[in-house]
Amino acid sequence: MSKKNKYYIVGNWKMNTDIVEAENLIEEISIGVENTEQEVVVCPPHVFLEQCYLVQSEMKDNKLKIGAQDISWEEKGSITGDISMPMIKNWVEYVIVGHSERRHYFVETGNVINKKLKLALKYKKAPILCVGEKKFTSSQDVTELGRELLDSIDGLTKDELKKVIVAYEPVWAIGTGNAADPGYVNRVIAGLRAWIKDEYDFALAEKIKILYGGSVNTKNAKDYLQMEHVDGLLIGGASLKTKSFVKIVADAGKIVQSL
Ligand code: PEP
Repeated sequence: MSKKNKYYIVGNWKMNTDIVEAENLIEEISIGVENTEQEVVVCPPHVFLEQCYLVQSEMKDNKLKIGAQDISWEEKGSITGDISMPMIKNWVEYVIVGHSERRHYFVETGNVINKKLKLALKYKKAPILCVGEKKFTSSQDVTELGRELLDSIDGLTKDELKKVIVAYEPVWAIGTGNAADPGYVNRVIAGLRAWIKDEYDFALAEKIKILYGGSVNTKNAKDYLQMEHVDGLLIGGASLKTKSFVKIVADAGKIVQSL
């Protein structure tokens, strides 16, 4: 693995906050991370993206990036209620695709996620592609995960795949308080890198950014970040609390300095 020079710390607010809470949260987080060298991204609900963008662009020394929690698989058309990439393109640099809640509640298939991912790339946004097994398996068999990954990235060139950030999120660990063992996470991510190596090449498998997500908090974040194969964190619940999120970013900074 190449030496890490920064971590990716991504907050997914999901369907939380109202407009006032969203404005306050983005402002507080912006201030809290203004000196960081890490890549810090927050993903507010779609309806607040413009306002969050406006608030954070007015902040001094602002390092915070904004991402979307999802996008439609089409650019426009008769898809009632959906939000397309062109609609939000001015406000985001990142787009989460394939989150397990989308896969589960909206029955999104690998094919749909693959289209979303390609659309995000077409609009020069960095996709954060989530993959994760539904049930804990002590055998650390990455076959199911590897398939999920390969279905989602089907048809991508090496140069396109370089721009994708993968988030390994075991479904059983998301929002449950049942965070995965850091050693287990490290081994699974090493397995994902091996799949990428077989499909593409060694250099890409080493370089691609792979994050962990699932019940991350201020107590366990460091344990994941210290793992060789973990390039950052995708955080749900703890990203809604400024103090917790900012502390995790600060801890990431200290770990980078110690490497
Ligand atoms: C998530 O939804 O991606 C997530 C990791 O949530 P939490 O941190 O709350 O488990």
